[in-house]
Amino acid sequence: MDELQYGSVLCVKCSHSRRSAVCPRCGYTSCWVRLRWHGTAISIWHSADGKPLTYKDAGTILVKLNDEIEKNEFDPARYSKKVKNEKSVDALWDQFVTQKEKVWSPGTASNARSIRKAIEPLADLVDLATFSAQYCP
Ligand SMILES: [Zn+2]
Repeated sequence: MDELQYGSVLCVKCSHSRRSAVCPRCGYTSCWVRLRWHGTAISIWHSADGKPLTYKDAGTILVKLNDEIEKNEFDPARYSKKVKNEKSVDALWDQFVTQKEKVWSPGTASNARSIRKAIEPLADLVDLATFSAQYCP
């Protein structure tokens, strides 16, 4: 893979920058793609069909991303589940707190709003459909 202008391929296990199919540092094979785009960190961990990325897969994605950026066709939301999820978690959390405000004390509601930033990193782990059904019916 040639040196690309945007993004990098990293090792899933040790986050070492990868230039080969097997990580020289830890021997792991799966990769992820990291890209900073207008201040947002975009991480791609899986292929479109949900499989872990091989070095080759990650390289293919990175080439495609760079190509799209060059052509001004890049849409981060299309690649990153996290970008989409962060927005939804944001909205769901807000909805959840707004509902609870009726039963919570004002201090509790205000605290709940302020921890919203803290739950954003969980966006990848949260099944939004479940969260939504359970807390924001
Ligand atoms: Zn490694």
